[in-house]
Amino acid sequence: MGIGGIVVILMVCWITGINLLTLLSEGGVELPGTQQETAGGTPANDETTAFVRTVLAETEDTWNAVFKANGADYQEPALVLFLKQVQSACGFASSASGPFYCPQDRKAYLDTISFRQLDQQFDAAGDFAEAYVVAHEVGHHVQNILSVLPRFNGARKRMSEVEANQMSVRVELQADCFAGVRGKPTDQKGLLEGGDLEEALNAARQIGDDTLQKRSQGYVVPESFNHGTSQQRVAWFKRGFDTGDMKGCDAFSGYTEMLSCRS
Ligand SMILES: [Zn+2]
Repeated sequence: MGIGGIVVILMVCWITGINLLTLLSEGGVELPGTQQETAGGTPANDETTAFVRTVLAETEDTWNAVFKANGADYQEPALVLFLKQVQSACGFASSASGPFYCPQDRKAYLDTISFRQLDQQFDAAGDFAEAYVVAHEVGHHVQNILSVLPRFNGARKRMSEVEANQMSVRVELQADCFAGVRGKPTDQKGLLEGGDLEEALNAARQIGDDTLQKRSQGYVVPESFNHGTSQQRVAWFKRGFDTGDMKGCDAFSGYTEMLSCRS
């Protein structure tokens, strides 16, 4: 793709909109699919590892089925749980960066501690809120396979900052929609408990750009939004969840030409 990795993270990988810090790696534990755990250290919290592994397996069930139905193979991502700092193909990252997906190494990165502190940081408690975060990052992986991310990153270089932010919002909302699509089979299997869906919707609400900006600085700057408003994030997650169909996740309606022409 020929794109600076850090820039990729800055534009498309944050779920929380927190600034990326580049720090030295302390290593992590990689969960390549759900098959095996490779070396690199012991996870800080085995319960967290088990939970993430379960959610990741659910995303694989969902996306394997979706891709198969469309005559394609789903290439499963790896997921790296890390403590404090990690090095990815997109550069160094710390807990402060929040969860992110790196297109270059096709891995999703989650810091175990901050992941479990969603409720304290963002008033977004609950297992399904955490599952949403994992599913959102896996949504970026699906976008990577579908060439949405490479096209976006190619097009972005020719855009103004405001245009790039608007396109970033569409990328993020589609990832939210994909996260919703992932939740549908879980619901159909009767695995959701009362309040689970609301946990995810609340998480989406808490990390909307407008809500985050109001909380951090007291006012909003819409031109700087790059993930979508709380209302948009809730709506797109719900859209995926309600339909269970990725075709309903076309957040680029009207922008497809721009993406394909400029990439
Ligand atoms: Zn994202």
